[in-house]
Amino acid sequence: MHKKQCGNGVEMKQYEIVIGLEVHVELATKTKIFCSCSTQFGGEPNTHTCPVCTGMPGTLPALNKKVVEYAVAVGLATNCEITRYSRFDRKNYFYPDNSQNYQISQLYLPICKNGGIEIETAEGKKTVGIHEIHMEEDAGKLVHDEKRNCSYVDYNRSGVPLIEIVSEPDMGSADEVIAYLEKLRLIICYLGASDCKLQEGSMRADINLSVREAGVKKLGTRTEMKNLNSFRAIRRAIEGEKERQIALLEEGKKVIQETRRWDDGKGISYPMRSKEDARDYRYFPEPDLAPLVIEEEWLENIRERQPELRDEKMERYAREYDLPEYDISILTSAKKLADIFEAATALCQKPKKVSNWLMVETMRLLREREMDAEELSFSPGHLAGLIELVDGKTISGTVAKEVFEKIFDEDIEPKTYIEEKGLKTVKDESAIKEAVRRVIEENPQPVADYKGGKTKAMGFLTGQAMKAMKGKADPSAINKILLELLS
Ligand code: ADP
Ligand code: MG
Ligand code: ZN
Repeated sequence: MHKKQCGNGVEMKQYEIVIGLEVHVELATKTKIFCSCSTQFGGEPNTHTCPVCTGMPGTLPALNKKVVEYAVAVGLATNCEITRYSRFDRKNYFYPDNSQNYQISQLYLPICKNGGIEIETAEGKKTVGIHEIHMEEDAGKLVHDEKRNCSYVDYNRSGVPLIEIVSEPDMGSADEVIAYLEKLRLIICYLGASDCKLQEGSMRADINLSVREAGVKKLGTRTEMKNLNSFRAIRRAIEGEKERQIALLEEGKKVIQETRRWDDGKGISYPMRSKEDARDYRYFPEPDLAPLVIEEEWLENIRERQPELRDEKMERYAREYDLPEYDISILTSAKKLADIFEAATALCQKPKKVSNWLMVETMRLLREREMDAEELSFSPGHLAGLIELVDGKTISGTVAKEVFEKIFDEDIEPKTYIEEKGLKTVKDESAIKEAVRRVIEENPQPVADYKGGKTKAMGFLTGQAMKAMKGKADPSAINKILLELLS
């Protein structure tokens, strides 16, 4: 809720914001929606193309079955009704990246409708309605060359399958928008229907926003902001647009329904075009594709293949493993992480220890390497093996961290690696004694401190001895010898 206070303390009108999202998601099919060209990102321009996806006359689209299955799977996971008899429609417009002069989409009978997902908000749980999900094809891409003052067009993306998930205007803050997007992203990732990367454009959110006076039922006039590619940009765009609309209303002006572009660098939005509506596109049923009928058997088959989603997984973890809620939320924050957790725990039966390695060291290395958890590629068995080696006191915790980094980067087998590198904990007491003696000699001040009653110096001395042993000692053994020699 937005409250404004005048200088003299008189309260002005209160406003609330209303947000609905249109989210485009690129589906993870190997081939395009209406031809067999590759959907792979990053090929040389115009190498993943054919007469169909470059809009040559006389070609015909053939629907990719996998696209329908992904769309239905997302629909089921977001509590939608599945339209058993749906259709494609032609949306007509000219743009150089749109080779056919129309886009095949769904207007009248989208594949899914009337769903919703639950999000966590500051005030508790809340359902955000999903008005519909429809299938459509992506457009190509214009590449602007400012030096030569010309533009090129790359049709590799033309015909890549998309679903558009249209929410109800049910969100009231940037936090709710981000919670919704995050929830949606995880559902779709868990389904394997897309990798949902905002930065790379496989998930793109358009934000429809209006403001209204608190307590008023009727929705205000909305604007739409397109293609925001980070949560940070989304947050800033919402704040900026909210302020702009409130300022207009305060001045007695009207908000114009239009599409605006958010410039995240400058922190302002500016108008792109006036809002078009369905009539402008002369939509009509796509004559080149038969209506899509989803038989009961097919639907059941997709339903049966639905994997365990995050919410169910969280509940099961709480039941099966004795883990704190915090661990569970991190472990399930990426499907890959959860998969590794389950496989490693099945092998060593030590859920909390597996969890700690994943939450602490794995997360640290992911950050350092600027990697996404879905890119993790080490074998769960190697992590389980490492845990056994630490528990059996074959290696120290210090060495284990070093070995884990090797597992993380190169998926080495820990036991062999430790043998080869001679990293086993030294059990030989005389070697430890020797190292401890040296540390005592070289550190007269901390030794004096300790003898003078500063017990903290003990930690320092243990650390030094551990270093001298290159981590290959049991800290409790060092501690014991230190105490002996200092008393
Ligand atoms: P269009 O088809 O013209 O884009 P829709 O009615 O399909 O318009 O709505 C598009 C999106 O805008 C939906 O996510 C919807 O929730 C949202 N929306 C519609 N009206 C408003 C409004 N007054 N304020 C905020 N969001 C809105
Ligand atoms: Mg729309
Ligand atoms: Zn093609």
